[in-house]
Amino acid sequence: MANTPSKLAMVPFVSVDHMMRLIHLIGIETFLSDLATYIEQDFLRWDLFDKTPRVASHSAEGVIELMPTSDGEVYGFKYVNGHPKNTSAGLQTVTAFGLLANVSNGYPVLLSEMTILTALRTAAMSALVGRHLAPEGAQTMAIIGNGAQCEFQALAFKAICGITSVRLFDIDPVATKKATRNLAGSGLDVVDCATAEAAITGADIITTCTADKQLATILTDNMVGSGVHINAIGGDCPGKTELHRDILLRSDIFVEFPPQTRVEGEIQQLAQDHPVTELWQVFSGATKGRKDARQITLFDSVGFAVEDFSALRYVRDRLGDTGLYLELDMLADPDDPRDLFGMVQRAAGGDSAELAG
Ligand code: NAD
Repeated sequence: MANTPSKLAMVPFVSVDHMMRLIHLIGIETFLSDLATYIEQDFLRWDLFDKTPRVASHSAEGVIELMPTSDGEVYGFKYVNGHPKNTSAGLQTVTAFGLLANVSNGYPVLLSEMTILTALRTAAMSALVGRHLAPEGAQTMAIIGNGAQCEFQALAFKAICGITSVRLFDIDPVATKKATRNLAGSGLDVVDCATAEAAITGADIITTCTADKQLATILTDNMVGSGVHINAIGGDCPGKTELHRDILLRSDIFVEFPPQTRVEGEIQQLAQDHPVTELWQVFSGATKGRKDARQITLFDSVGFAVEDFSALRYVRDRLGDTGLYLELDMLADPDDPRDLFGMVQRAAGGDSAELAG
């Protein structure tokens, strides 16, 4: 007799196609703003979370990481890679998927693509931080590195911080043309720049999102004037940074989770005890973010598990009756929980003797 899996054993799975349709249903700027709210809510419950630096497996080509966390009721993890040379082979630099589970019984409650969701949550987090740290009245953002993350960053800063203009630069002009084309009609004024120096001219916010597995210098000290906010997202791995050390020494540095950022972020270039501010303290108001108009603020972004947890939580809450998921037969569910073997045996129908024997 065939086993019929119970409702609890069926796990909703959000595919890439479903995720894209969910974004269109909600509207991308609303999605980004809502995600920022979810992330902020979770950072305000910081103490509740299990926090651990992500578990990384490095190779010459890149890194594969697992990012787990739990708030005591729900557990989540993301699988993510970072392979800067992938694009030359027609592959993404970053791909990901993630899962949420009930802590009470350990059963998964959601499995989702997270390549697109990571771009959205990274942008939402950047813009949320920008809202707390960018200079007042900031309208213009430079984006150095116009690959997969670029347009998400631009739209998040438009929706959440109110920027009106982006100045783009990439060593590959094809990437800049792609981003310019994709942002046409977004309501942003988009300027295609020939150099990084030209891109940051007049910018209140500088986003660096390049990919190269090396200690790169996308920004040198003399390029960064007082008062700007730097949103550095591409330096997120040991041996992979974007900013000259001297910029770090002139900046007030804000991080997600110091034990992870000290290994992976721009601050791997500094002493282990170099002062940094944890963002949950800024969001809660316990610590001031930007103190004056001349201060250089730096978000040394590496991406932390709680942000992925928030993103999965948001997707789960929004799925509702959209139908934008498949039910996966992912958990074995024998009618008698102790009769796992019997379930396998019965699946063979008349041929079960082989297993029994
Ligand atoms: P991508 O490979 O799609 O794009 C990177 C772009 O950077 C490419 O267009 C490349 O030509 C450009 N570039 C490389 N070196 C440059 C330089 N010196 N000056 C200007 N442009 C340069 O990668 P992506 O998916 O957009 O990711 C960008 C970076 O962000 C990666 O390093 C990735 O690991 C990182 N990332 C961080 C987070 C986070 O939470 N902090 C999340 C996602 C991705």
